[in-house]
Amino acid sequence: MATDTAVGAQSKSEEVLSLAADKARSYVRGAGERRVGPSEAAVIALAELHEPFPLSPCDAMAVIKRLDEIGSAATVATTGGRYFGFVNGGMVPAALAANWLAGAWNQNAALRVMSPIAAELEEVVLRWVCEALGLPPECSGGLVTCATMANFTALVTARHALLARSGWDVVADGVFGAPPIEVVVGGEVHASMLKALSLAGFGRKRVTIVEADGQGRIRADKLPRLSDQTIVCIQAGNVNTGAFDPAVEVCKAAREQGAWVHVDGAFGLWARISPKYEHLTQGFDQADSWATDAHKWPNVGYDSGIAIVRDGSALRASMGITAAYLEPGSLREPMHHTPEASRRARGVESWAALKSLGRSGLRALIERTCAHAQRFAQGLKEGGLEVLNDVVINQVLVSFGRPEVTREVIRRIQEDGTCWCGGTVWQGKTAMRISVSSWATTETDVDRSLQAIIRIANHCRSM
Ligand SMILES: *Cc1c(COP(=O)(O)O)cnc(C)c1O
Repeated sequence: MATDTAVGAQSKSEEVLSLAADKARSYVRGAGERRVGPSEAAVIALAELHEPFPLSPCDAMAVIKRLDEIGSAATVATTGGRYFGFVNGGMVPAALAANWLAGAWNQNAALRVMSPIAAELEEVVLRWVCEALGLPPECSGGLVTCATMANFTALVTARHALLARSGWDVVADGVFGAPPIEVVVGGEVHASMLKALSLAGFGRKRVTIVEADGQGRIRADKLPRLSDQTIVCIQAGNVNTGAFDPAVEVCKAAREQGAWVHVDGAFGLWARISPKYEHLTQGFDQADSWATDAHKWPNVGYDSGIAIVRDGSALRASMGITAAYLEPGSLREPMHHTPEASRRARGVESWAALKSLGRSGLRALIERTCAHAQRFAQGLKEGGLEVLNDVVINQVLVSFGRPEVTREVIRRIQEDGTCWCGGTVWQGKTAMRISVSSWATTETDVDRSLQAIIRIANHCRSM
């Protein structure tokens, strides 16, 4: 009897996997042609999900059918070629397929003994990322959910290293009563960096803000006095303009005083793969820690944040835990490098994406999306619109005139569904942001989107 049940469960499991694979395939086929934002009807239908917790089981086939019916239509088609919102990447085919396999594996990436493959792939991915980004080979790191978490991980490590210099053991004694650490950020620091600072006990407001220029770059000539008790946070890629802080000057000043430099390079750091952008990305390898996202520009899929730290022993001192059942070994143990213990094996998709792209593929992806951003900027200007930023990488800021007109154009673009772009306020000006971050975007996608944007803008401006 027991055997029969197991066999029954096995065939059931295969049937439901085939169903999910079929639904996923048709979703992928349709993602390039469907409207980008979901229809209003699809969003309204989500209300049907709010039933009381079911009293009895539901057949797995029916669960997946329901999920597809109600869910697929209410997604935002970020995997198609015409989603330009926030800085959200798509997902290269090898990463998606690897994600399916990793789901079947259901590995816990906390410890090597729980999953040798997960532990090994993490190491490979971290080394490849350092190679791709031109970061020192001695770096250590951890795979976390997102750049916010990666910023947090790096800041906690910096906190430990700097306080240790004053003889304060923050891991044992905490932050209360500890010697003060000064934190320096730029005027256009990403909001998530401030959140990470608050999580790490530094406070969102207890920072020195250095004036930024018109593109959002830190003014290196305005840096305050630094010391070996200072953390300077710089950016590789401003979320609005794509601008890079002057890392050469900042790192030089920091080095002289023994300050710690942390780089928020959520997407922009990946431009380091291309010699074309060397003039922007120089000097970032001189920092002490870096945060980036593989789910943005490299198109690995969610959730794939990466924290990298030059001083691996400081990272392990901050993130490691000891327990009777955790015997120390000589090999890298993932959980001693991240805030989390149990974790999905997120190195799998990163490995698959990086393996499938290779250096030249990743470089082509970065350069192609930047070229698309240039095409957008050119087309918008030809359409009589104002581009607010120097388009240096993949980010374009466009204004449609008065703030209320710009907001209305954005609303109508989202409603139209040809493409999806979000709003922002850049140094006091309401703007629409176009971020070209997907491997899937083609010139045709850019042209179709430009046509829709200009048509809607002309309509709104004549109102
Ligand atoms: C996107 C972004 C973040 C936050 O990334 P998450 O992965 O959403 O946490 C931080 N900094 C910059 C510059 C970003 O572009």
